[in-house]
Amino acid sequence: MILVLMGPPGAGKGTQAARLAADMSIPQVSTGDLLREARRDGSDIGKRAAGYMDAGTLVPDDVVIALIERRLEQGDCKPGAILDGFPRTVAQAVQLDDMLERGQRQVGAVISIMVNEDEIVERILGRLTCGQCGAVFHRLIKPPAVAGQCDVCEGGVSSRSDDNEDAIRTRLQTYTNQTAPVLDYYGGAGRLEKVDGTGGMDDVFERIQDALSVA
Ligand code: AMP
Repeated sequence: MILVLMGPPGAGKGTQAARLAADMSIPQVSTGDLLREARRDGSDIGKRAAGYMDAGTLVPDDVVIALIERRLEQGDCKPGAILDGFPRTVAQAVQLDDMLERGQRQVGAVISIMVNEDEIVERILGRLTCGQCGAVFHRLIKPPAVAGQCDVCEGGVSSRSDDNEDAIRTRLQTYTNQTAPVLDYYGGAGRLEKVDGTGGMDDVFERIQDALSVA
């Protein structure tokens, strides 16, 4: 099953995608993580993406589409994948459908996690991310057991370079302008399930599972 997980930045997509991936035994594929990896590796793609990412704007479609196509061709994605942060434009959604159709596959379900803007800004400003494995913590709500160190892999945790208030506002604006229309694209085709993203992680996970059982 190819599952698309959507929602504004800070809605908890990454956290929920990781849980779903473990639960469904299929990989979580995050374009944000793939791009951060490319930056760490110093690859051409990483260099091309850096400026857009730090400003909170979208990396050009052709870059992320090439990345995702390469990733979905890998063997571990044969049984399916949880797409986290992709597609983020209607052009990406159309290309995803085309790419999957060529392999006789399709998007099985689209879940949109809904959270209001004030809560998002609060969540993101406190967010701490492991530079090594991508695990996410929060300064107040979920601090790592040892300050500055990831509970999962003992890598260093810090604020992402794009988790500052200016970039967050830009990312939210980008979401409204470019990504919200993707919800209409899927909604029109009857493929979209909306889930309330407020409250605890377990509650949201349960709501997603309920939504998937009717999708
Ligand atoms: P994320 O980790 O999903 O919040 O993504 C971090 C940043 O990576 C975004 O603000 C964009 O600059 C870039 N990015 C991630 N996924 C995409 C995508 N599907 N299309 C364009 N840019 C993306």
